[in-house]
Amino acid sequence: MSDRRRGYGGPRTMHKATCADCGEECEVPFKPTEGRPVYCRECYQKHRQY
Ligand SMILES: [Zn+2]
Repeated sequence: MSDRRRGYGGPRTMHKATCADCGEECEVPFKPTEGRPVYCRECYQKHRQY
């Protein structure tokens, strides 16, 4: 794999979602699951403490 010339995350599929915390529209690199909260990048940091 040497297709790094864009150097910006690659051809990752992004899905539009609404952050369950701040309500902002955001894009997540995974498919949002119905019934489960989706967080934007910033809120995700706050919520990912396991
Ligand atoms: Zn948020």
